[in-house]
Amino acid sequence: MKTFDYARADSVADATRAGGRFIAGGTNLLDLMKLQVETPEKLVDISRLDLNTIEEREDGGLTIGALVPNSDLAADPRVIARYEVLSRALLAGASGQLRNKATTGGNLLQRTRCYYFYDTAAGCNKRQPGSGCEAIGGFNRIHAILGTSDQCIATHPGDMPVAMRALDAVIVTQKPDGDKRRVPIGDFYRLPGDTPHVENVLEAGELITHVELPAPTGGRHLYRKVRDRASYAFALFSVAAVVTVEDGLITKAALAFGGVAHMPWRNPAVEAALVGKAPSDDTFNAAADALLDGAKGFGTNDFKIPLARRTLIASLREVTQ
Ligand SMILES: Cc1cc2nc3c(=O)[nH]c(=O)nc-3n(C[C@H](O)[C@H](O)[C@H](O)COP(=O)(O)OP(=O)(O)OC[C@H]3O[C@@H](n4cnc5c(N)ncnc54)[C@H](O)[C@@H]3O)c2cc1C
Ligand code: SF4
Repeated sequence: MKTFDYARADSVADATRAGGRFIAGGTNLLDLMKLQVETPEKLVDISRLDLNTIEEREDGGLTIGALVPNSDLAADPRVIARYEVLSRALLAGASGQLRNKATTGGNLLQRTRCYYFYDTAAGCNKRQPGSGCEAIGGFNRIHAILGTSDQCIATHPGDMPVAMRALDAVIVTQKPDGDKRRVPIGDFYRLPGDTPHVENVLEAGELITHVELPAPTGGRHLYRKVRDRASYAFALFSVAAVVTVEDGLITKAALAFGGVAHMPWRNPAVEAALVGKAPSDDTFNAAADALLDGAKGFGTNDFKIPLARRTLIASLREVTQ
């Protein structure tokens, strides 16, 4: 590992002005540093900041500190009662030991698991802009089928962010000049385009301090994750769904998808295909058509297109029962 400076931040303001790379649980960043995929000159340890509580909001929602460990968030009785999809998504991720260390902010910002990104001998535009993309034309079983570019076809590997996208979470940040901003999760991540190394809208020194969950919308919650092993594996495809059925009709639907794109994916056309309709396989197939409109496989990941259709239909059958 390359040598680096280390500083521990005593306050959010200190952290944002320290001029280094934040480290929270370290479960992603340290792996990347050991492999020389990331070589920060300076680490700013934010793990002792006072950002590890979950607070009630006046609107009936919750404010989650960026340092709340994934295991605490999954086990919080308010999260289980009101945002079951979030608890389920968290528990579908990593292992118990990792979830004890992994934080809310770090989970949002974990980097892709693309094999070539991790291999410093391979061409990878995300790791080294302009060096090419070996996943295109290479082994791309875990890669994206939606929102790709000819520069990068990587996926965001997270589970928690997929549930947060379905829940319309808002990411709260603080910049080095003290300015705070609230970014809806739908505006937080970027598609790869020509700059796959730029993954979100955060500016230099900007720290995630909290995540806000709006008041729950009711309905049934589901998180379904398809992966190569029953545990301790990233999603090939996942569905986060919050769906309400009243008098035989779907009246509300919020769906987000993992394992298919550079960001947790949400497409209003999927929800439009469901709302106002009676639950049926015809309705669910129309939602799958909307999701997969424009989907493109790259060889070894072609299977994700029929997999996504089958998994979405099975998920909708379950959540509308
Ligand atoms: C073997 C293994 C299996 C895994 N399986 C899964 C899985 O199935 N599903 C899943 O979702 N995840 C999985 N993970 C990933 C794990 O969830 C992430 O590593 C973890 O959530 C990252 O959180 P952290 O606090 O450790 O982040 P760190 O490693 O500390 O940081 C990650 C990134 O976030 C930045 N950062 C951290 N906090 C902040 C902040 N508050 N503001 C701004 N920037 C910040 C850091 O600078 C760094 O770039 C797995 C990890 C491993 C090692
Ligand atoms: S898919 Fe993206 S992360 Fe993977 S090799 Fe290509 S540019 Fe790199």
